[in-house]
Amino acid sequence: MTVEEGVALSRFTTIGVGGPARAVARPRTVAELREALAWARDRGLPIATIGLGSNLLVADEGFDGLVLRLEGDLGAAGVEGELLVAGGGAPNAVSLHRARAAGLGGFEFACAIPGTAGGGVRMNAGAYGGDWAGILARALVVDAEGAEWRDPAGLGLRYRHSDLRGDEVVARVEFRLRPRPVEEIKALVADLQQQRKAAQPTNKRTYGSVFKNPEHELSAGRMLEACGLKGHRIGGAQISPRHANFIENADGARAVDAIALMAEARRRAWESYGVELQHEVEFLGEIELPPLDR
Ligand SMILES: Cc1cc2nc3c(=O)[nH]c(=O)nc-3n(C[C@H](O)[C@H](O)[C@H](O)COP(=O)(O)OP(=O)(O)OC[C@H]3O[C@@H](n4cnc5c(N)ncnc54)[C@H](O)[C@@H]3O)c2cc1C
Repeated sequence: MTVEEGVALSRFTTIGVGGPARAVARPRTVAELREALAWARDRGLPIATIGLGSNLLVADEGFDGLVLRLEGDLGAAGVEGELLVAGGGAPNAVSLHRARAAGLGGFEFACAIPGTAGGGVRMNAGAYGGDWAGILARALVVDAEGAEWRDPAGLGLRYRHSDLRGDEVVARVEFRLRPRPVEEIKALVADLQQQRKAAQPTNKRTYGSVFKNPEHELSAGRMLEACGLKGHRIGGAQISPRHANFIENADGARAVDAIALMAEARRRAWESYGVELQHEVEFLGEIELPPLDR
């Protein structure tokens, strides 16, 4: 197994922010993955898996541990009967392509989610009324001690949440789909992508939704828009002028800029609505949001 050192993690995130990792490994099989996990354990290093980095803010100082990127078999997808079988690192676009080619429907909602099968399990990713929990049959979870298949209940999937620990890696995912005419799949995907383009900054570097939607009549985006935050900028990061629940890398953004914007957004939502917004984006490295001043 080859381990690269000092790789800039900004390369692995959709917002293009983040310092270096102590080490990066790219396992292609479950055996190589276990070898990488043992390598980190022997050195007492923490591990983190990065999919397409589409929901991730990495600290400017980077991550003092081993980053795993799943490739080869662990990044591929195929169809077996009515099951879509994807490596944890398989991009959703590839999985959707395979499902469509086999005339299997149910994964169309994921056309709006620019991540991987494994990242989707961690986040219970979802859009347009569908989510991972709704189609997932089981996922193979690997850590330094072993591997086990878990169903949605065993994974603890809830709204944008799973019970997976940071050192557990989703190596393989099986989705249960159903036959659907290819033309119907294509039409639905085209429609959802159109809706996306109309509402969100899809042509900018972001990490997707910053905050989870609160239990409130307003979504996080509408609430932050009402707080006057659209276009608000700190350093190289700005709240999207198009959708207030997105932060864009406007020009050389750093993690501290994004965190300062998130802190300001939380402060204003608290003061105006008494709502404590919870972040949806995952943090890697030494990153913390300052507590709210109540
Ligand atoms: C433009 C845009 C639109 C988006 N729209 C949506 C949307 O509609 N709905 C939605 O739910 N999300 C959305 N997202 C967020 C993001 O795409 C999803 O959360 C996605 O599932 C993250 O997958 P990823 O592979 O990129 O994970 P990463 O961002 O790489 O990682 C996210 C978390 O998952 C963990 N992880 C990644 N892979 C694995 C693995 N194999 N095993 C264990 N843990 C893993 C990471 O350690 C991290 O904690 C959007 C993002 C962008 C940029």
